[in-house]
Amino acid sequence: MKTEMEGIVLTEQTADDKNRFVTLLTRDRGVVSCAARGSRDVKSSLFAPTQPLCYSRFEVFVGRTVNVIDDAEIIKSFYDLRVSLDRLALTQYISDLVVRNIRSDVNSSEQLDLVLNCFHVLEGQDKSPELIKAVFELRFSSLLGFMPNVVYCEKCGKYESSMMYYNILDNCLYCSECCTNKDSMQKLSKGALAAVRYIILAEPKKLFSFNISGESLRQLSECAEQYMLSVSLSHPKTIDYYKQITNMM
Ligand SMILES: [Zn+2]
Repeated sequence: MKTEMEGIVLTEQTADDKNRFVTLLTRDRGVVSCAARGSRDVKSSLFAPTQPLCYSRFEVFVGRTVNVIDDAEIIKSFYDLRVSLDRLALTQYISDLVVRNIRSDVNSSEQLDLVLNCFHVLEGQDKSPELIKAVFELRFSSLLGFMPNVVYCEKCGKYESSMMYYNILDNCLYCSECCTNKDSMQKLSKGALAAVRYIILAEPKKLFSFNISGESLRQLSECAEQYMLSVSLSHPKTIDYYKQITNMM
């Protein structure tokens, strides 16, 4: 059966000197693996649209054991992100999380729009990769059905104080008076907590319409990463590589 799919190429695997397999995040069918025959040849019409970080329209023959890309055209390429090591490493970590956490044959339109939005902002260079990473981690976790419970202090109902503490293990927020084990929880300043709340609830188009820096950004970043890793139940190697690169910069 032939079908049209819109999606972004997340990973590629060389099959031989002519052929590749690619993994796509599609709008209607979740994560899909496809053979891209002849796509290693620069003269092939599949060469450009099946490159990693290309958002393309694909015509795919869906087979019982293998899906084969018949034709493809680029909608938008994020290929320029490849020239910056830290930005490229972040796209690889995001791709890895998507492939690990989204199944095939599910509607994944919101997840695809989130990836496209993050890559678009990453290309724009006016937000740091650290901030974009945190936004992706918290929003993606929420789209997977795991929204952090950060509305009130679990014990006294307080909405905000100069410092609050989020416990990933029991998914509860505590104010500084009610928190009994501060060292084992994620510390969130007023700014960091406001950012967490904003990221999980904002309209998709306004997802990046906030600013945060310094210690609050550091807390947001730590909380988002730990939360994502707990939701994902795995430790992708791509996060170690991303950190290695950013530590060198
Ligand atoms: Zn409290």
